[in-house]
Amino acid sequence: MKFRSYMSEAMKEAHAAAERGEVPVGAVIVSPSGDIIARAGNRTRELSDPTAHAEVLAIRDACAQIGSERLVGHDLYVTLEPCPMCASVISFARISRLYYGASDPKSGGVEVGPRIYSHKQCHHTPEVYDGIDAKAAEDLLRDFFAAKR
Ligand SMILES: [Zn+2]
Repeated sequence: MKFRSYMSEAMKEAHAAAERGEVPVGAVIVSPSGDIIARAGNRTRELSDPTAHAEVLAIRDACAQIGSERLVGHDLYVTLEPCPMCASVISFARISRLYYGASDPKSGGVEVGPRIYSHKQCHHTPEVYDGIDAKAAEDLLRDFFAAKR
């Protein structure tokens, strides 16, 4: 099957998050048949919930829809490297492949910091593909934080 990136859909969610005044990060979850079954952007401020990151919200939605706490065979696209919390949730959800855009040297948990998937206590490691459309995600984040100053 030909690879098709869904990062542009995740970017739409990141832009929508920025418009809500949230840190512009977006995520989508793609089913084994190639359908987007959940999409979300950050809503930590709106929901007064520090766990309301795009990845967590998308995973909650997808799990509720299929009636399972596991998303075997599903892929997750997110515009920014997941933080340690989200990296762990992605593992718990048994996501098959993780595609992310920009690296996050400050708060990431995949390639930097805790490197969640490198620990033997991590029982499921997704395939990880980084740098997907990274420039667009970086530009959006930079512009967002520049406007805040
Ligand atoms: Zn996170």
